[in-house]
Amino acid sequence: MEMTERLEVNSDMTNEKMHDIFGAILEVETDLSKYSSFHTGGKASYFIHAKTVGQTVQAVQSASNENIPFIVIGGGSNLLVSDSGYNGLVIKVDVSGLQMIANESIECGAGEDLMSLVNFSVENSLQGLEFAAGIWGSVGGAVFGNAGAYGGEIKDVLTEILLLDRNGKTKIVTPEYCKFGYRDSYLKITKEIILSVKLKLKKGNKTKLQAKVDDILATRAAKHPVEQFCAGSFFKNIPDPNEKYGKLPVGRLLEEVGAKNISVGGAKVFEKHANIIINDGTATSKDIRELADILKQKVFDSFGITLEDEVISIGNFL
Ligand SMILES: Cc1cc2nc3c(=O)[nH]c(=O)nc-3n(C[C@H](O)[C@H](O)[C@H](O)COP(=O)(O)OP(=O)(O)OC[C@H]3O[C@@H](n4cnc5c(N)ncnc54)[C@H](O)[C@@H]3O)c2cc1C
Repeated sequence: MEMTERLEVNSDMTNEKMHDIFGAILEVETDLSKYSSFHTGGKASYFIHAKTVGQTVQAVQSASNENIPFIVIGGGSNLLVSDSGYNGLVIKVDVSGLQMIANESIECGAGEDLMSLVNFSVENSLQGLEFAAGIWGSVGGAVFGNAGAYGGEIKDVLTEILLLDRNGKTKIVTPEYCKFGYRDSYLKITKEIILSVKLKLKKGNKTKLQAKVDDILATRAAKHPVEQFCAGSFFKNIPDPNEKYGKLPVGRLLEEVGAKNISVGGAKVFEKHANIIINDGTATSKDIRELADILKQKVFDSFGITLEDEVISIGNFL
């Protein structure tokens, strides 16, 4: 019962009580580095791998009723988990399901890999998701942060989102509700949970779509880390209508401040892309955070621009 004290909300909570509340699905002291593409970070006091809508709803309702702090994760490809972990419940939303519905539309569980959705759309000769080829993580995570690349964003193809509020009530909303912006959505404020989505695509030519996907994957393979541990771009690009895709790439500014020569412990800047921080296998999350802060300061000192994290931090970094 050594974990009892770590759950700050309720000091008389024990692992036994937690098991009574959540059932056999509950894990205790789960290593979160296994669930982060940085492969760093500490433990979650409690962890649930929710594979269905029912399991997710049940977990959220129970956490809400018992006033237990919780967060959700998807594929863990945009997370920096503190070395001291998270003192609460982590729910990994892994709701599966990928099917065609009427009128060139697809319904997809939030836990599906974004890349599986891209492949499914191409197999069904549907156009509109090619931009997402090679973006890591789940469909839920992509919707939460409005993932995008090469001028496309997930918001462009969404028609409906099944959400779960923090009390465990479901509702269906339109994309307007989510107020999508650049790597942003209203869900970052409400912290509602995405369970599944519907997407509307256009009829396309399967061979051409596959060629486009292959092309994007080849471009990514040349520019992005394939083997190393990272979370993609660390900082958001800067809106600028004069730039391609309307964004000034932060990597360019970071190059100019000599980012590629800076490292902290096992955290390094990727040699082919200055906006990607990699863990060489020995980094702690503290190393990564410190390196990011140095880079941020350098860009501010040289350009007067304050960089904003694209990567989401979990836990305490103080
Ligand atoms: C090599 C590499 C390349 C990348 N390239 C790109 C790119 O080109 N474009 C881009 O946009 N991103 C890119 N990323 C970042 C990452 O892939 C995306 O941000 C992705 O959408 C995150 O999804 P995830 O499921 O891994 O989310 P996680 O990392 O698990 O979580 C990220 C956030 O989403 C929330 N979240 C996750 N699932 C849900 C859910 N079901 N309901 C509510 N909230 C949820 C979490 O609470 C957290 O706040 C890249 C990452 C890597 C490693």
